[in-house]
Amino acid sequence: MNSPEHFDVIVVGAGISGIGAAYHLKTQSPGTRYLVLESKDSFGGTWITHRYPGIRSDSELYTFGYRFKPWTGTPIATAEEILRYMGEVVEENQLGGHIRYRHEIVSAAWSSTERQWRLAVRRSDTGERLEFSAGFLWMCQGYYQHDQGYTPDWAGMDRYQGRIVHPQNWPEDLDYTGKKVVVIGSGATAATLIPAMAEDCEHITMLQRSPTYFRTARNINELADMLRQLEIPEAWIHEIVRRKVLFEQGAFAARTHREPELVKQELVANIRALVGDKVDVAKHFTPSYRPWQQRLAFVPDADLFHAINKGKASVVTDQIETFTPTGLKLKSGETLDADIIITATGFHLSTMGGIGFSVDGEALDFSQTVAYRGAMFTGVPNLLWVFGYLRWSWTLRVDLMGDFVCRLLGHMKERGATMVTPQLRPSEQAMPLKPWVDPTNFNPGYLNRGMHLMPRQGTNEPWTHGQDYDQDRKQLPLVNLDDGTLRFE
Ligand SMILES: Cc1cc2nc3c(=O)[nH]c(=O)nc-3n(C[C@H](O)[C@H](O)[C@H](O)COP(=O)(O)OP(=O)(O)OC[C@H]3O[C@@H](n4cnc5c(N)ncnc54)[C@H](O)[C@@H]3O)c2cc1C
Repeated sequence: MNSPEHFDVIVVGAGISGIGAAYHLKTQSPGTRYLVLESKDSFGGTWITHRYPGIRSDSELYTFGYRFKPWTGTPIATAEEILRYMGEVVEENQLGGHIRYRHEIVSAAWSSTERQWRLAVRRSDTGERLEFSAGFLWMCQGYYQHDQGYTPDWAGMDRYQGRIVHPQNWPEDLDYTGKKVVVIGSGATAATLIPAMAEDCEHITMLQRSPTYFRTARNINELADMLRQLEIPEAWIHEIVRRKVLFEQGAFAARTHREPELVKQELVANIRALVGDKVDVAKHFTPSYRPWQQRLAFVPDADLFHAINKGKASVVTDQIETFTPTGLKLKSGETLDADIIITATGFHLSTMGGIGFSVDGEALDFSQTVAYRGAMFTGVPNLLWVFGYLRWSWTLRVDLMGDFVCRLLGHMKERGATMVTPQLRPSEQAMPLKPWVDPTNFNPGYLNRGMHLMPRQGTNEPWTHGQDYDQDRKQLPLVNLDDGTLRFE
């Protein structure tokens, strides 16, 4: 085999994180030889994997967009709009030449002698096997398996005669015109799909085991629109609106801890105002958990509730006893007829893009590592993962990590180091370890199911990561890289 093509940094994945990483390398670490490897045909990640009707963001784009590229559209955006925005970032910064598509990384082996990662890569179009090497791996592979969504195993599924569809694998030929459809689940995906499909279906039912909190608002940003009228430059509008959004989100998150009951009442009252007596709000829209303990679904222009009001959509809160040939039998005894059943039941967590990792010949199990600031891992040299925020926009972390990696690479250069490895200090060897995310604080199904695969966190800095953008924004730029928790060699 030919000697591998070598780069200073290889970025894994060309989703919103990977494109952001490429931008930061280009602008903050000029001269760095870098490459993005992506298994799909194009950039976009999540926004090309998901092709279901109505696919859109559930956070607003002033913060889901990068800090360096103004967002000029409506706050909640379609996948198409997000892809167009990312395409502009690629084009305006000439990143295209640094991305190789249809390159799936199969394994990554670190050698402390060579001071590099060796990557085995499979071309998804030709099946060809290639080898690359890199001084540093910037993991932007997201957090879930892209090939298949998570569908629980229900009794009787094999005798159901209709079609079962997972939103992550949406069939292009699915015709739901005039059909009876049941959507299992009530997260953001269900809340997006239902209003997008309702007009065309005979009827669409949202079947949920338990209720979700929903927030609604018009899909506009009044401040942005006003500033535009005043002909303020877009870069300023982006920054001002970002700050306002972040301020309001911070205040809301704080309230969910300080006065959860009141926030709950407000959220539920809003739904009651939208659907009136048509729906049993106490039963279907009043969760038992504290607001924000799971991702709160945002419904722009309250479209889900308008579909309910029109009688095209309805909600059932119950549990599935079994699939039947014609639909579902529920634990209450009720039955639901369905030509199509959509399982909006979430993802399979994937820690590291399905890549087989090893360090100096030893297979690497990330669940046995402790995370340094939720990004690097004890005993794993020259590797950083962008795992974005769960309650804030994911991309906020992409920009912060961009600054951090470029600073770290600069620091290594200054010190003449070719290897950086997080290590517990002697006093931290016996530190109690906790799960990646505190399940009492945030507990969506995919994390609960996959938490045992994730790295762990400790009890003191820098081994904790609170998923708190506000804290990270202040702390990360000031991190002392020489505090002994990063070993430079
Ligand atoms: C439907 C949906 C809506 C969402 N909406 C929001 C939202 O509004 N706001 C928000 O903050 N978050 C949202 N999220 C979370 C969302 O996934 C992230 O915000 C963000 O898009 C993740 O970006 P990423 O680039 O880190 O990962 P991804 O988008 O998952 O992209 C990872 C890329 O890496 C590639 N890759 C993976 N493994 C390999 C490998 N071994 N070799 C080569 N390439 C590989 C994949 O093909 C993919 O293109 C949403 C998620 C979903 C599923």
